[in-house]
Amino acid sequence: MSNTLFDLSGKVAIITGCNTGLGQGMALGLARAGCHIVGVNRRSPDDTRQRVEALGVEFLSIQEELGSIAPIPSIIEKAEQHFGQTDILINNAGTIRRESALEFTEKDWDEVLDVNLKSIFFLSQAFARACIAKKQRGKIINIASMLSFQGGIRVPSYTASKSGVLGLTRLLANEWASEGINVNAIAPGYMATNNTEALRKDPQRSQEILARIPAGQWGTPDDLAGAAVFLASDASNYVQGHTLAVDGGWLAR
Ligand code: NAP
Repeated sequence: MSNTLFDLSGKVAIITGCNTGLGQGMALGLARAGCHIVGVNRRSPDDTRQRVEALGVEFLSIQEELGSIAPIPSIIEKAEQHFGQTDILINNAGTIRRESALEFTEKDWDEVLDVNLKSIFFLSQAFARACIAKKQRGKIINIASMLSFQGGIRVPSYTASKSGVLGLTRLLANEWASEGINVNAIAPGYMATNNTEALRKDPQRSQEILARIPAGQWGTPDDLAGAAVFLASDASNYVQGHTLAVDGGWLAR
């Protein structure tokens, strides 16, 4: 069944951190809707490339480390050179450090804020400048977290960064909605990826978390595909500055 509201045929999406986890799930979701993918990763995204190409769309790989904003201009340039356009940006790459607030180091603060907040702001800025220069519609999707709404524990820089993502999503929407750019975010709940491996390996924490999820199970990368396609497509043209929880009901508890 084809539904033009959600059709992404011929569109081009830049997705950071899509070699694995939630980024891979969203890349496959968009590819299933007909979208070409530009994967920005610090290591090889071969598994994602193969699975995206098997869906009949193109995959362009750009290898970059996002702990610095230096590579950002060249990311947009390479994507535009290859495809002639970029329509969607998913700021997904993210990292986490776990330590008590009393012991937390400046290094663990900076490394998380640089990837999770600074790089998404400057990548969004470069993407929006390119859209505005071409008078073209754009879709930005930032990946937030339950810790955009809640405090969490032993993850101070992660909570600061993801709370920042929610605020920044609203600010960018306020500035760019009139330019035809939608800026929204997805807040995943507790999902089974590398990011939560330590939690899932801790029997007590794992049980506590599972018992609190109304859906009764950890989410998977596939669970984000529908929300990503919605926010990337014409179906969400009048949705601005919203952070959509995909959390099995966690926030409803
Ligand atoms: P993941 O499997 O660890 O994926 C994180 C991605 O970000 C990987 O591709 C990783 O690359 C990339 N990345 C990290 N630091 C980077 C850097 N300095 N430069 C370039 N890429 C970097 O975890 P995930 O759960 O899929 O995380 C995806 C996003 O969802 C993150 O923003 C995370 O905070 C958010 N999130 C996850 C959950 C959850 O429960 N899993 C919940 C809420 C929000 P490598 O593979 O090379 O490390």
